[in-house]
Amino acid sequence: MRQFDLASAPLTIIGTGMAGLNLARAVRSRDPRRAITLISADSGDEYAKPLLSSAFTKRQTASALVVRDAVGIAESLNVQLRTHTLVDAIDTGRRCLHIGAETLPYGQLVLATGAAPWQPFDVDPALRNRVFQVNDLDDYRRLRDVLDRHPERQARIAIIGAGLVGCEFANDLHAGGHRVALVAPETAPLPRLLPPPLGRALGDAFKEAGIRGVFERQTTALNDNGEGVTLTLNDGETLEADLVLIATGLRARTGLAEAAGLAVSSAGILTDRILATSDPSIHALGDVACVDGLGTRPDGGLNAMYVQPLQASAKALAATLTGTPTPVSYGAWPVMVKTPLLPIAALPPREPPHHWRIEGEASDFSALAEDENGRLLGFALTGRCVRRKVELARAAPPLLG
Ligand SMILES: Cc1cc2nc3c(=O)[nH]c(=O)nc-3n(C[C@H](O)[C@H](O)[C@H](O)COP(=O)(O)OP(=O)(O)OC[C@H]3O[C@@H](n4cnc5c(N)ncnc54)[C@H](O)[C@@H]3O)c2cc1C
Repeated sequence: MRQFDLASAPLTIIGTGMAGLNLARAVRSRDPRRAITLISADSGDEYAKPLLSSAFTKRQTASALVVRDAVGIAESLNVQLRTHTLVDAIDTGRRCLHIGAETLPYGQLVLATGAAPWQPFDVDPALRNRVFQVNDLDDYRRLRDVLDRHPERQARIAIIGAGLVGCEFANDLHAGGHRVALVAPETAPLPRLLPPPLGRALGDAFKEAGIRGVFERQTTALNDNGEGVTLTLNDGETLEADLVLIATGLRARTGLAEAAGLAVSSAGILTDRILATSDPSIHALGDVACVDGLGTRPDGGLNAMYVQPLQASAKALAATLTGTPTPVSYGAWPVMVKTPLLPIAALPPREPPHHWRIEGEASDFSALAEDENGRLLGFALTGRCVRRKVELARAAPPLLG
């Protein structure tokens, strides 16, 4: 494996989400003197993104979710942190970044640019105070500003998309007192994490609590109706809402890398197990990376855009960047879905299984994804069966062994 010229400086990390900050922290703990520059298009404040979809019920504002601000991070890690700075381009030949008219040289470069919300239709900019996507702290702040001004907290909220983000917000905003409708083309919630009977169990739990499920329907248009938004569905039905939350998936932000000539696919920036891109002096990790074939699924489903893979990547990459090339491994790490109305743990199999073996009743199900020889490939658990997650994770194959 390639050894780096450790004299080259600085190590430059684009992105201060959980991936960029975990990496900076891990490098700093291995090398107290290394010059590190962090660059972020946003405020650079540290926060745990997974908490965005359960913060409403806990009455946590966007500011309350900030663990440390950019100044505090720069001081505690002894790094240069440039906030509200958008990197426009990478010149791999001259090893520099273009930021507006400025040219900034880098020694080693790491791309931790995350993933951006994807939406299946255009939204009229005039609806910006009524239609939201929440993928970072600023998005959440905007949503909270509008929700907190809503009289009686009884807003009619239509959530488009019944994946992890849509379902978690449905549960959280409902628990916070709002009237929620969940609209999705699939037959049941969480289609990429759960086989249909378990998805239906979550749909039933939502329905019982008062969340309206509008399944097997595509939203084709959003229109301002003067007092709110009218959603037009593909069967001609309409739905009125005060606010709309679009949660139709994320796409890896590969634009910078692609324009610089790095190998990318719809699943992310392609890296090997030491997280090197097709240019060995540039690495990538987090939601933007497709590590050894594991990234955003082409159908928009997520199979490695979670916190544990990025934490493992940060640890391995810190070792690599400080002189010990270290391949990353991902364990069999189930995702815990934050839907208190029906607890869920899921370890989706990498490939569609030969069959699902499903047992259980009422809302307590265990579903084992198996190959043709009955070998465990992944699992999904609901309700009381969630307690089997440790035992099953031990028996399941690692995501990246
Ligand atoms: C609502 C929600 C709930 C979630 N819940 C869970 C959960 O329960 N469990 C779990 O494991 N995962 C969960 N996830 C996923 C998890 O949060 C993400 O995998 C993780 O936060 C991704 O971190 P990241 O650093 O790769 O990307 P991001 O957090 O997206 O950070 C990207 C960074 O890159 C910067 N950037 C991008 N482009 C540029 C540019 N050109 N120039 C400069 N800076 C740039 C951005 O400003 C930002 O700082 C959830 C995600 C969401 C949205």
